[in-house]
Formats: sequence, C-alpha cells, structure tokens
Amino acid sequence: MKAIALTLCSCNRYLDKNQWKPYKSIEKLVADKVKKQVPKGKVLVKNLELPQALKDKRDHEVIVKVKKEEKIIPVSLKLVKCDACAREGTQYFEAILQVRCSNYEILEKSINFLQKRVSELRHKGMFINKVEQQDDGFDLYMTNRKITQNLGKELQEAFGGEYNASPQLFTKNKQTSKNVYRVNVLVRLPSFERGDIILVDDRVYKVEKLGSKIKLTDLATNNQLISGYTKLSYAVLKKHTTYVSRTRPYLEVINPFDFQSSMVRNRPANMFELGQEIKVVVHKGIFVVD
Ligand SMILES: [Zn+2]
Repeated sequence: MKAIALTLCSCNRYLDKNQWKPYKSIEKLVADKVKKQVPKGKVLVKNLELPQALKDKRDHEVIVKVKKEEKIIPVSLKLVKCDACAREGTQYFEAILQVRCSNYEILEKSINFLQKRVSELRHKGMFINKVEQQDDGFDLYMTNRKITQNLGKELQEAFGGEYNASPQLFTKNKQTSKNVYRVNVLVRLPSFERGDIILVDDRVYKVEKLGSKIKLTDLATNNQLISGYTKLSYAVLKKHTTYVSRTRPYLEVINPFDFQSSMVRNRPANMFELGQEIKVVVHKGIFVVD
C-alpha cells in the first residue's frame, strides 16, 4: 500500500500532476485515491481534519477492507497556496479595470459592486491587487484577464455606460520568458441611475433601464426612447418632495419653488389622495415621478 500525500489550497483545489484541480470533499477525494490502489477494497474514511496554517501538515490513517483483511493507508495533507491564490497581495496583474464616472455616489456604488463580485471569485484566482484613484474614477489592478472583461460587462449591465476593452502585449515574464498579455477595460458610467429623471433635448425622461443602451420614457407623452451613451447630452433633474393640493378635475400639487397649487404636466398611472406626499421634478412645468 502506498501512502497518499495530497497538497491542498484553501480555495478547495488540490495539486494533481502539476495541475491544480477543484475538489468538493476531501474525504471523497481520498477515498477515490485509495480505490485506485485497491479497486475491490471497502474504504472507510472518517472526517479528515485539514491543516489550518500554510505549509502545515496533517497525518491521518484510512482503513481499507479487502475481504476479511484490514489495511491501513497513511494519508498526509499539506496546505500550500496554489499559483492563483499566491497572486493575492502581490504586484501581479493581468488587467486594469478603469471605472469612470462624474457622480461620486454612483462611482462608490459601482466599486462596492465590483468588490463584492471579486470576493465571490476568489476561488478562480481573482483578486484586486491595487486600487489607484484618478480624478474621475478608479483603476483596479486585477489578477485575471478574462474575468475582468466579464466584470466590466456586468458593471455596464447594472450601471449602464460605455464599455471598451483593449488588449496589449505587455512584457516578457522573466522566469518563463513567455509573453504576458494584459488588457485595459474601460467602463465609463453615466451620472444617472435607473429611476432618475433626466433632461435630453429639452424633454423630461425617466430612466427605465440601463445596459449597453438606455431605455427612457418621455414623461409628457409616455413615448419610449432607446438611446446610446455616446454624445448623449443630458442633465439630471432633482426630485423634490411636495404635496397633492387637488385631485379633481385634474391633479395639482404644490409647486416646490413658489408654493402655488399647479397642475402637473404628465398623467401618472397611480391614484393620489389630497394631502399625499408626492415626488416631482420641475422643468417648464411640474412632472410627477412617483
Ligand atoms: Zn488556491
């Protein structure tokens, strides 16, 4: 019986002939290894305690029953960092994700979104190894090229804006003398979010959906408009909270600037009651945005 020695990483992968492969349960992995040696044996694997500290070793014994004979196979588990995990906290990077936005609040949300996604991708060797603040955004130095491109797309899907990826041959790796390719992913976010009210060509629109295109509803006509981001010139309108001052024959609200009761310019789908709090924007008239 040969002893079994396994090299593991805390990302649930083990080293198999110079390749890191994922495993679900260490007991199952060990049982499969034993089965290879003793195909007809009955393998009993108790819970195997994993080494906790790096380079730590844990020795166990596994019992195999072949007919009436019991045999003991020593199992040794060693914890190291796999190639991918070893990149965390180093200078290593394969991609720069450049996030740009003139609205700091949205920028912050987008960075939180990315950090959360990256923390879910640790097992794929994805880390942010450096963050550089720029005038209008952040440069994130990421350890995986392909995932960075996917995350850029996810960011665009959630926050809208323009996506651009430009690959570049960067340097030769000194140790392996292989070419290292890097990619710059630029995502330029608009300074509005879903649900915001924006002014485009002197018309008031509600932002219904963001992604590679924007879906807008014209509040005065209820017409839908699909737009790109390039050359879109817009202003975000501030939402004011005010009160319903009349419901019949037409909906009126208190104008937040002159405090006069004024008819609203759009026909909201909701019904409102007298005195009810209501959100509006003001641009050449008052628009209900609830
Ligand atoms: Zn790992």
